[in-house]
Amino acid sequence: PPLSLLTVPDDLCNNYVILFSSLKFVFGPCALQALDLVDQQSVNCLTSPSGRSVFQVTGASGRLYTCFVSCHYCPCPAFTYTVLHRNIGLLCKHLLAIYLCGAMAVTQQESVSDQQMTVILSGAHAS
Ligand SMILES: [Zn+2]
Repeated sequence: PPLSLLTVPDDLCNNYVILFSSLKFVFGPCALQALDLVDQQSVNCLTSPSGRSVFQVTGASGRLYTCFVSCHYCPCPAFTYTVLHRNIGLLCKHLLAIYLCGAMAVTQQESVSDQQMTVILSGAHAS
């Protein structure tokens, strides 16, 4: 069974089902793909000693997306297309996966040095 169902206690699970139903209603197929990312533990929160933090999500293709939850941004094509250009969506699956991981407290935490953080942040918009 998927990890998200194994690690969520029963009482939480009911909330989770309700949450998911509403997610599916609001976000459509995006919600399913986001849950896949959660199951695959694709969401990492990187934190540096200076207190900066950023999320990295490994996409289905193995590509790493650096997402900024604070300014609601993901560099993936779906986000650019549906959210920025067409304005027909609110979130891409990566941002949704980050919110879901946060809600279920299953985000993987990773510490990086300030130097690494600078590299990550400066490379985030490159592709
Ligand atoms: Zn995205």
